[in-house]
Amino acid sequence: MLTVKEALELVLKHAAPLPIVDCPLESALDRTLAEEIEADADQPPFDKALVDGYAVRLADMARLPRRLKVGETILAGQTPRRPLGEGEAAEITTGAPLPPGADVVIMHERTTGFGDEIEIEDQEVRPDMNRLQRGEVYKRGDRLLSAGPRLAPWRLGLLAAVGRASVRVVDRPKVAVVPTGDELVDFHQTPGPGQIRNSNATMLAGLAADHGAETWTSPILPDEPEALAQGLRAALEHDVALVIGGVSAGQKDLVPNMLRTLGAREVFHKIRIRPGKPLWFGLGPPREGRPPALIFGLPGNPLSGLVNFLVFVRPALDVLKGRPGETPGPIAARLGRRHHHRGFFRVHLPARILRDDPSSDGLPTIVPLDSRGSADLRAAALADGFLVLPEDEATLEAGAIVEFLPLS
Ligand code: AMP
Ligand code: MG
Repeated sequence: MLTVKEALELVLKHAAPLPIVDCPLESALDRTLAEEIEADADQPPFDKALVDGYAVRLADMARLPRRLKVGETILAGQTPRRPLGEGEAAEITTGAPLPPGADVVIMHERTTGFGDEIEIEDQEVRPDMNRLQRGEVYKRGDRLLSAGPRLAPWRLGLLAAVGRASVRVVDRPKVAVVPTGDELVDFHQTPGPGQIRNSNATMLAGLAADHGAETWTSPILPDEPEALAQGLRAALEHDVALVIGGVSAGQKDLVPNMLRTLGAREVFHKIRIRPGKPLWFGLGPPREGRPPALIFGLPGNPLSGLVNFLVFVRPALDVLKGRPGETPGPIAARLGRRHHHRGFFRVHLPARILRDDPSSDGLPTIVPLDSRGSADLRAAALADGFLVLPEDEATLEAGAIVEFLPLS
């Protein structure tokens, strides 16, 4: 059986960035920039005031205090009507263009008005004070961003500033979520004898959406070859297929064979992870213009799917989005109480961070939650993340440094 590290390497080896597409700026949030962005104009486009006050000539500031005659008023959005004469000031507001001849702006608060004159207080006046020169931030044609980063809101702001109505981005991963199992009913329904609600499709679609995917959720598929074939075929048209259930050793675990029948290729099945050991991973048949689907056959127990998503699907989505390695892995934490770990499997236990942390070294202290294993969604709902115990056997004392995989 593969270790988690070996399995993850195989997943990442088969993942590749999606094609590049045009995207309206309004929908570009969190996409990956796939082109260079150049300035369309000088920024600022004119010498501009950075405060409300008076535009003056530096030469007039040699001896202070000094009285100046106030000529015109220039508001943001207006243009000056004439150059600034010697011994003259122009009232100006933040963002308005300086008149020719002015090279400094004096803050309103450092002046006193006397009718149509103002007196400039004695103060240190530096050249360029309170003004930004045309092109000082960047010049037309300057390269502002290279391809690669996430289009975070502040980067979208820059794109808006240079007038980009649309932008080249890496396409968004299209993820199919496929719940399977005769015992499942929709979450709107009251389960009959032997039935349970389909909770995982909602959880996994949410996880995928949280990581920048466009999701499609299939109706619940019964453990029956014809219906399975039809649903899985639709799923294989997506970039990622998250098939839930039917990948273990039960007589109704038909998913791996059915995937093979549909032309999928198995890369691995069953790995040294808990929860989530029965994970099946493979590739869909070739597709026109896009890489084959990455297929994750997730065991049906909710925490198995959750852990497999965090450990394998999330890093794969990062690659598809063109931002490999973006999601951080486990972080260092201190264990709040003694724990014995039997080893062989890499184990993930729902854990929470102690808020009133007595330790002073800056590491969060975590404690595993009482949990009834991989079906215990309540434990996950109360958790901040997972305590990650490596493949080796160990007795960990309280205070030991351990790995912690945060949920968000
Ligand atoms: P399986 O992987 O199909 O053997 O399912 C393992 C366990 O997970 C069984 O108890 C299933 O009833 C449960 N299960 C399977 N699919 C789901 C789902 N979509 N939502 C909640 N539980 C599920
Ligand atoms: Mg099943």
